[in-house]
Amino acid sequence: MKTLSRKEVAQLIENMEGKILITSHKNPDGDAIGSSLGWFNFLRKLKSNVKVILKDKIPYFYDFLPNINKISTSHSINEQFDWVIILDVSETERTGFDSIPAKNSLVIDHHITANPDSTFAIVEPKMPSTCELSLEIMKLIGENLIDYEVALPLYMGMVTDTGSFGYNSTTPDTLRNAAFLLERGINPYTVIKNLFERNRVTRIKLLKKVLDTLNFAANGKIAHITVLQKFLKETGAGLEETEGFISYPRSIEGVEVAIFFKEFEDGKWKVSLRSKGNIDVAAVASKFGGGGHVMAAGFEYSGEGIENLKKELFEHLSKLLNQ
Ligand code: 5GP
Ligand code: MN
Repeated sequence: MKTLSRKEVAQLIENMEGKILITSHKNPDGDAIGSSLGWFNFLRKLKSNVKVILKDKIPYFYDFLPNINKISTSHSINEQFDWVIILDVSETERTGFDSIPAKNSLVIDHHITANPDSTFAIVEPKMPSTCELSLEIMKLIGENLIDYEVALPLYMGMVTDTGSFGYNSTTPDTLRNAAFLLERGINPYTVIKNLFERNRVTRIKLLKKVLDTLNFAANGKIAHITVLQKFLKETGAGLEETEGFISYPRSIEGVEVAIFFKEFEDGKWKVSLRSKGNIDVAAVASKFGGGGHVMAAGFEYSGEGIENLKKELFEHLSKLLNQ
């Protein structure tokens, strides 16, 4: 694996020839979808053969983005590519594909726990989103190519990964970059309205059940919630509709770490962690085989012993909280 500077990545992308695949992590979030679509809309002005394939279905609330229907979803990639650009994730395993048939690969990521297994990589953990890092690289290739259809998905991913520019990951440059994108004709409320103000009643019914599971550990410094498969069946909601639920336990006064246990299949769990800044949850998630950022991280767990896992996790966090 060769680490590249922004300028080298820009040159590499400009010189890419042949069939180019864009992909990102499974269960794609705003930054994964925004950067994938941003690069697709950008590169299709320069290259004749670009595709986006993601493992999992795209939640409906992203349907307002230009060319979103050009993203395909598939359990495996059967076509041969010359290049794959892997966004917002560094490990092929987390794309959800067993393998990606491409001669060369380039990772563009911003996770502190990143461990790229690609041919080339740029990882900038100080960047609040892969969308913003992508924008910086695109500017080096050609500012004139960044039009509305490129700007809107990038802006959307910047909004979601920074908590609407509310987290400390937001820098003066982030707001200057947001301004640059707004100048491409974006109406900021388009993003907020589409993402956050089109809840289905099923989501609210699910929220009711999930909030009923609210519980505490470590003298109220840990707040946790759980979604079970049966809640999804009872309400008709999809797991993607739990996006944002973790902000409720995190919002409680005195809570330092919020945890969301999500049963995504019978006996298979996704655990999301959020910190208010005093605990590095990326390090905690790494200990359990996952990763992420200091204030937002996650890992997967499969097995029958979810109660044991909870106990182990709370004990580990309690130690850190008492230091
Ligand atoms: P979320 O809780 O929203 O799914 O993820 C929060 C952050 O942690 C995201 O940046 C995400 O990429 C990262 N993350 C979540 N789950 C995993 C995991 O299983 N492995 C790694 N390496 N990172 C994860
Ligand atoms: Mn991201």
